[in-house]
Amino acid sequence: MTFSDFRLDSRLLEGLQSMGFEKPTPIQQQAIPVILQNKDVIACAQTGTGKTAAYILPVLHKMMQTSHRHLNTLVIAPTRELVQQIDQQIEGFAYFTGISSIPVYGGGDGAAWDQQKKALQQGADIVVATPGRLIALLAAGTTVFDHLQHLILDEADRMLDMGFYDDIVKIVSYLPKERQTLLFSATMPPKIRALASRILRQPEEINIAIAKPAAGINQQAYMVYDAQKEKLLNHILKTHTWNSILIFASTKETVKKLDALFRRAGITARAFHSDLEQTERETILRAFKNKQLSIIIGTDVLSRGIDVEGISMVINWDVPPDPEDYVHRIGRTARAETTGTAITFVNERDQRRFQGIENLIGYPIPKMPLPAECGEGPVYSPQTRREEGFRKNRKGPRRKHFRPRFNK
Ligand code: ADP
Ligand code: MG
Repeated sequence: MTFSDFRLDSRLLEGLQSMGFEKPTPIQQQAIPVILQNKDVIACAQTGTGKTAAYILPVLHKMMQTSHRHLNTLVIAPTRELVQQIDQQIEGFAYFTGISSIPVYGGGDGAAWDQQKKALQQGADIVVATPGRLIALLAAGTTVFDHLQHLILDEADRMLDMGFYDDIVKIVSYLPKERQTLLFSATMPPKIRALASRILRQPEEINIAIAKPAAGINQQAYMVYDAQKEKLLNHILKTHTWNSILIFASTKETVKKLDALFRRAGITARAFHSDLEQTERETILRAFKNKQLSIIIGTDVLSRGIDVEGISMVINWDVPPDPEDYVHRIGRTARAETTGTAITFVNERDQRRFQGIENLIGYPIPKMPLPAECGEGPVYSPQTRREEGFRKNRKGPRRKHFRPRFNK
């Protein structure tokens, strides 16, 4: 498939050629035809997948067919840097079309403000703006989007993270109701859906799946206080059948701590992290492959490289910062059509990250009740957590001289 399959105006194709774009990316393949049909779109695809061209090419094409282009399209993005980037990309695509775009963002002095105002009045076709500055312009009444046809929210998830929900709703209240609205985002948390249902009309949904966990992985999660994790690990090792286990932790320090813990318990496990020499790492992996070693404790350094068959279990001592690392970590088990178990320990602080993983993979991970011997764990409530200040004062059960016993 090539860009000419979309029957885009030849001047756009020329622009694409000069930018070195040959093949449309998956999000572009799916979004461009739908946008050309004037439908509202809610699209979710990872960073770096080509979302800008996915929304701006069809919009430029449509603009070239109308005579009235002044303030035709509004793109809203969370930060000044993004606004500049998007504006530059548009300039490239629109190079042979005569369509103009201007970036609008806060900061700078009064001169910048006057300049932006003037440029808006004099006839920019596309405005790329941050929410804050745009509201100021709209409230000043100098910029009127009466003929706006396209509204695009780019990086919508980040805008909501930055607290722009109300601003966006406010901006939309200044815009004509008859318009096409496109929402692009890297993730699709529930808040985005709420926003979409408020400002989009019967949107077409486009989701570009990223690497998803294999179906053979039995995923489980435990809501647990840090102080309960050792006991929980002990319980899992005792009650599950396994032959090889990878235990992941986010920091070297935690890996070393766990390593010491296993040593004290007399269990042969090896720590794997970036402090080790390459030869040491290779020795550990070889022993693991040969089944001379059954447990490796490692940071995410381990999750990318290791290719060993028959790992029966992956345990995440904590929730990885990057949701994609979760997919990498648990992908170490259940390779090649086998089955495996992936268990994640989620403390109160990690609940939001954990929710990020569920958003990424697109379904909830079963939450298991803590075994009785661990006592009660935290409640899973990732969204309200921030507001619930009282939680800060709540700690898990204190264990003074707890020693894990690993009886395997
Ligand atoms: P996203 O918004 O999804 O993070 P961008 O739209 O910023 O991604 O695109 C990421 C990079 O890929 C940019 O440098 C862009 O120029 C380039 N790019 C996008 N689509 C294509 C394509 N079809 N062919 C070649 N390069 C592309
Ligand atoms: Mg982008």
